[in-house]
Amino acid sequence: DQTVERIAAGEVVERPASVVKELVENSLDADASRVSVAVEAGGTEGIRITDDGVGMSREAVETAVEKHTTSKISDIADLEAGVATLGFRGEALHAIGAVSRVTITTRPRGEDTGTELVLEGGEVTSVGPAGCPEGTTIEVADLFYNVPARRKYLKQASTEFAHVNTVVTSYALANPAVAVSLEHDGRETFATTGQGDLQETVMSVYGREVARSMIAVESDDSDLPEGPLDGVSGLVSHPETNRAGREYLSTYVNGRYVRANAVREAVVDAYGTQLAPDRYPFAVLFLDVDPGTVDVNVHPRKMEIRFADEAGMREQVVSAVEGALLREGL
Ligand code: ADP
Ligand code: MG
Repeated sequence: DQTVERIAAGEVVERPASVVKELVENSLDADASRVSVAVEAGGTEGIRITDDGVGMSREAVETAVEKHTTSKISDIADLEAGVATLGFRGEALHAIGAVSRVTITTRPRGEDTGTELVLEGGEVTSVGPAGCPEGTTIEVADLFYNVPARRKYLKQASTEFAHVNTVVTSYALANPAVAVSLEHDGRETFATTGQGDLQETVMSVYGREVARSMIAVESDDSDLPEGPLDGVSGLVSHPETNRAGREYLSTYVNGRYVRANAVREAVVDAYGTQLAPDRYPFAVLFLDVDPGTVDVNVHPRKMEIRFADEAGMREQVVSAVEGALLREGL
């Protein structure tokens, strides 16, 4: 029923940033080489994502927005029993559609015509042929218009935008081969070229000063202490390039963006007294780990992760980052 549906949707769609995360992931899955994100009022007024990926046929887009029969969410009891934490594969578009008005325009590569499909509160209200470029554009308007309780919990536009920015930045940094751009209220926040390496991508996102200060981290089994990680690589900033907040510490586990405080703390620990207690470096750090030693189902939609051997992971990250700083004479 509708109540269950909207609660379920609320598990996927917490705020504008969660919509952006799902749609950017879909664009990357669709082999896009360009993903453009534009939001209005932090995403509370509108979200538009355009990609040049494989696109969808009319049948494909109609299927994509359906409630998938494999869903395990059958009633409230299931939700309360924690099914929500098992993830909602194949549910994102449907869930977003259930709590907003969505317009999808899409054309498969190499096809002559595209399709426009409109979803309102989960129902398809129109579908038909449309002239549009190859790839997919998804516009999400009136988020939570039918879930006033959720709408009420949205923060100010600036706060919601900060979350959107974190998400888009994280995907941009992890995908230097994809041109990712972000626009807020008509003004460009950043745009990557999609042609560069990690350092160039950092420059596009954080600017020249930060990019120049970056130090390469590159450790593998041969120089890491014993622990769950097989490799630690990426970039960390010179201690003099730091900020008051920790939002510039982007960490990835096996290529997947995660919000892992344990990893962030280990990075900061490696700087020791070179950083004042309330200052944080910039970091883009990729951890390679045996998938059997991490629990990614803590809450897949929230990008959290748990290490079986957290102490071992911390020691390895500290060692890798300390090693990189030492090589620079720091
Ligand atoms: P999932 O990504 O888990 O399959 P979603 O609800 O996010 O579930 O998307 C459903 C399907 O819609 C995808 O599997 C894909 O086939 C299609 N799809 C969604 N977004 C895009 C896109 N930007 N380009 C091409 N296909 C897409
Ligand atoms: Mg998806």
